[in-house]
Amino acid sequence: MEINVAQNILNENEHLALENQKLFQAKKVFVINLLGSPGSGKTTLVEKILTYFAGRYRIGVIEGDLFTTKDADRIEKLTKDVVQINTSGGCHLDANMVRKTLQSFDLEKIDLLIIENVGNLVCPAEFYLGEDVKVVLLSTPEGDDKPLKYPLIFKEAATVIISKIDLLTATNFSLENAVNDIKTLNPQVPIFPLCVTKDEGMEKLYTWLEERLQTKKC
Ligand code: MG
Ligand code: ZN
Repeated sequence: MEINVAQNILNENEHLALENQKLFQAKKVFVINLLGSPGSGKTTLVEKILTYFAGRYRIGVIEGDLFTTKDADRIEKLTKDVVQINTSGGCHLDANMVRKTLQSFDLEKIDLLIIENVGNLVCPAEFYLGEDVKVVLLSTPEGDDKPLKYPLIFKEAATVIISKIDLLTATNFSLENAVNDIKTLNPQVPIFPLCVTKDEGMEKLYTWLEERLQTKKC
């Protein structure tokens, strides 16, 4: 019985996610579901993207968080198009939570919507929100064993960012092992090793994103 309940929840979520997707398609909004562990650098990456594309693209942000508005407070300094979702301890966002925020955005004018999911490598991968792509961050202090330990999220990723490469020498993280394991799970996925805070390796990511923004506008 429990399996059926879980399946129904996922089916209901899928239905609402497809509604979100239709709306994003109609409004030509490119949507990223940003995933990664707590502390992997998701919010810092969002800040950098907002700064880099300022004045060229209008970017909305949904901040998923268990209890606080700490991330949304940071993002608010860079855009007024930000909405906080508190999951009250829930470990992932679902399509209905996202749906309820959408009236707060002028989707007609927004080019890119970034949904920062709850920091977690497990269940956020199972809940489609209506996004175009999932972008997964893996930071070097987390360890290079994480792709094989949490395969679903890496299989679902349209792009994997290996963040905090400035800490490579301080950890036993093997970039080669991580890349090989990610490629085993998801052979075509682009992988960007970078350091967000030091602006190392960011150009390739920006180019990748801009190509997708342009395609969505057509
Ligand atoms: Mg964050
Ligand atoms: Zn969850």
